[in-house]
Amino acid sequence: MAPSLDRRAAATAILSLGRRLHARGWCEATSGNFSQRLDAGRIAITVSGRDKAALQEADVMVVDAAGRPVDPPDARPSAEAPLHCQLYRIRPDVGTVVHVHSPSATMMSRRFESKGEVLLEGYEMLKALSGVETHLHGEVLPVFANDQDAEALAHRVETRLRDESLHGYLLAGHGLYTWGRNAAEALRHVEALEFLLGCEWRAGAR
Ligand SMILES: [Zn+2]
Repeated sequence: MAPSLDRRAAATAILSLGRRLHARGWCEATSGNFSQRLDAGRIAITVSGRDKAALQEADVMVVDAAGRPVDPPDARPSAEAPLHCQLYRIRPDVGTVVHVHSPSATMMSRRFESKGEVLLEGYEMLKALSGVETHLHGEVLPVFANDQDAEALAHRVETRLRDESLHGYLLAGHGLYTWGRNAAEALRHVEALEFLLGCEWRAGAR
């Protein structure tokens, strides 16, 4: 189980992720969302529709394990909160979830939607993914059809998340989900995956 985190520490980590990933152009126009596990039953997550470059502590709220608002009780979490809660439920080792609408992930998700997955192999950068020790590793990134119903999306993704070697997945025409034991690991994973997907895009992978 990922260690417990107090709310202020979680908000600080989320604000930092927002500034850093917005600066890369990966969560434009209020897109994307970030969360941190606080303890077994509570998650800190970005409030819906906030500018990720200018996140304040008040833009991070607490939800319960089912995604229901806890504090403040009248705030609205990101519409994709069910996908975050699902990861914390299935993967006890996960402490941070990052979702971005980054360009390479979005383009590749469209190109590979019909195949249902992207295979990344032969890159030294693969070693930035936890547990990967060689460029000879083949990293599979599942691609799921997009849906405006986050519960339906969660249902679609559920069985693949039980594969503990998975580092992320794509939603077609939408973006990338990745995670880590903590914010630093999740940041490393989002940077590595966007880099790898960008290389494959520019190489014309099909
Ligand atoms: Zn999204």
